[in-house]
Amino acid sequence: MRLAIIGGGQLARMLALDGWRLGIHFTFLVEPGENYSCVNGLGDVVELDKNMSADELFKALGKPDVLTVEKEHVDADILNMLADKCRVAPNADAVKVTQHRGREKNFLRSLDIQTAPYQEANSKPSLASSINKMGLPVLVKSSEEGYDGRGQWMLRNDDDLKSFLAEDDLNRDFVIEGLVDFDKECSMIAARSADGDCVFYPLTDNVHKNGILLTSYADTNQSDNALTQSANAIAKSILNKLDYVGVLAIEFFVIGNQLIVNELAPRVHNSGHWSQATDVCSQFENHLRAVFNLPLGDTQPSTHVAMVNLLGVTLDKPNKLASNMQLHEYNKEPRPNRKIGHINIWHESLDELKLQVKNLLEELY
Ligand code: AMP
Repeated sequence: MRLAIIGGGQLARMLALDGWRLGIHFTFLVEPGENYSCVNGLGDVVELDKNMSADELFKALGKPDVLTVEKEHVDADILNMLADKCRVAPNADAVKVTQHRGREKNFLRSLDIQTAPYQEANSKPSLASSINKMGLPVLVKSSEEGYDGRGQWMLRNDDDLKSFLAEDDLNRDFVIEGLVDFDKECSMIAARSADGDCVFYPLTDNVHKNGILLTSYADTNQSDNALTQSANAIAKSILNKLDYVGVLAIEFFVIGNQLIVNELAPRVHNSGHWSQATDVCSQFENHLRAVFNLPLGDTQPSTHVAMVNLLGVTLDKPNKLASNMQLHEYNKEPRPNRKIGHINIWHESLDELKLQVKNLLEELY
């Protein structure tokens, strides 16, 4: 079995680490000049040459059985090009929906799934009129390419609005969102196999630092509560509508018992890394199982589990790693706020887990 992955970052790395165990061989398709230190030694690396025909690309990738992605911002033409040569999972149309915030929100609304209030705009005059319609404060987001809080403008007052409208380069797609006064942010990782079977990991509570994920807690106590049931139903309707195969991540804002979808990611996701620890099948293995149409694995851990991101820092003394901690390093050069690894921690007692996470954060930051 051979899997080609578009991208050579840490998500590709962790897919390969689990895939080797399943006897899968890997090819990573990277952009010319892209750094692929994360996947060094884990498979063949092919630099994309836009002049290649579908046959040439398929051959260069080692005639894979499946083509998948580790990021949403990929050239959907590549997915379409190879669709009659191997399974492409997730499919190009599903990836395209998630590549554009406006398209994604319209898709969610078409399924009666709640989002933040929003308007779309693509020029200075339409931005001004949409923002006026929504009323300040608003969050303006680039429809394409933004992630981890980049490509976003918080406009709280007229001065913010004025300086935003003075920016060059406003002739592109934006969504303007009303602010959601959420109680917390959480996410769900779901997987759907080529046969249409679905599994759902527990809702995960996420805490961000400067717009970047810092910690995640799997909400293992609440596998049959109302919030989980409605998150599962939302995930199922999205997966089925997109005829989706693989792992999909859904980010939510939570207000009381209400779930508002903020964003979709057509791939394994940072907030599901905790699944590498404990007794469940990891999100990486379930993605592989889904795209190779193998039976999907267990998703409900029997213990409390959390993940702490290593944002430009790592443990000074790795020998401090406790027996209930699992260290993952991505083979990346440290830079401020750059995700260079993570630590998974598990404990039978939620209070003890929280205390250990707090101590770890103090040591790291
Ligand atoms: P995003 O890039 O859409 O994931 O946004 C990054 C972060 O900004 C989110 O994790 C939230 O903390 C915050 N955020 C995004 N959209 C909204 C919104 N409409 N209302 C309030 N906070 C938001």
